[in-house]
Amino acid sequence: MKNLRCAICSEKTRTRLLYRANFDFEKLNEKTFSARRIPDNIHYQLNKCQNCGLIFSSPILAEKKIIRFYQKSKFTYEKEAVYLAQTYLSYLKTFRSNLSPKTKILDIGCGNGFFLSEIYKLGIKNVFGIEPSKEAVSKAAPYLKKNIKIDVLHKNIFPKSHFDIITSFQTLDHVVNPNEFVKIVYRMLKAEGIALFVVHDTNGLSVKLFGEKSPIFDIEHIYLFNKKTLAGIFRKNGFKKIKIFNVNNKYPLIYWLKMTPLPPILKNPLMTILVNLKLAKIPLSLAAGNIGIAAYK
Ligand SMILES: [Zn+2]
Repeated sequence: MKNLRCAICSEKTRTRLLYRANFDFEKLNEKTFSARRIPDNIHYQLNKCQNCGLIFSSPILAEKKIIRFYQKSKFTYEKEAVYLAQTYLSYLKTFRSNLSPKTKILDIGCGNGFFLSEIYKLGIKNVFGIEPSKEAVSKAAPYLKKNIKIDVLHKNIFPKSHFDIITSFQTLDHVVNPNEFVKIVYRMLKAEGIALFVVHDTNGLSVKLFGEKSPIFDIEHIYLFNKKTLAGIFRKNGFKKIKIFNVNNKYPLIYWLKMTPLPPILKNPLMTILVNLKLAKIPLSLAAGNIGIAAYK
């Protein structure tokens, strides 16, 4: 087990216990680490920095163990990924309007390349990805696969000042050392380059409604941010011009239901009803408690 501290403040800041760990360490396996599985509400001990409000898991498993789980994890959100890619692309276009065929883009935690393939369709062929799950990368389109590194982000994975745009969606909350992560992103960006990240919001609706039962309090999440702490971690690691925004996610009704922390005895029949009434696929756009950051080098 490894103890963590607030990633933003000095080591001396006081933390408050938010929720106790609610699982048995012996029972962990790679299924626990598959993104977007039906939430089972297990989490480490959650702590809150009294100074800046950053929420973080501690103690946690050794980082090597966590990475090994991600390497073996399954890619299970193919259907939802189509919707995600459209949402993320609309934000990218908002903050970076001058996309050209020469633009060089990296997506960290790219899964099967669902976002990169949307970019590729725009005629931008310089698209690269980093993803630890072999299985996820095996599902990538053949034209993307050669540009995706099956790995986690580390210092020398790409050269300095290499990319115009670096995106990372729902990944920073999974990272054991977010300072190092953001620092490496800063280093890999060209001057005037932009980083576009999306993470869960600890001040979001799901936390207000469900408290400890919110799906964001999950064993996969190490550091959890709100608007202030998200800006804080980027500022601490070199970024000066920062814009924070609310993310509206557009998903089919069935997916919203799937992610709601209801007991299976209620959820499963409701899911069947949606399918039978042919309502399952109706898209619904909601601010589900995600926030984004556009940070310029
Ligand atoms: Zn703090």
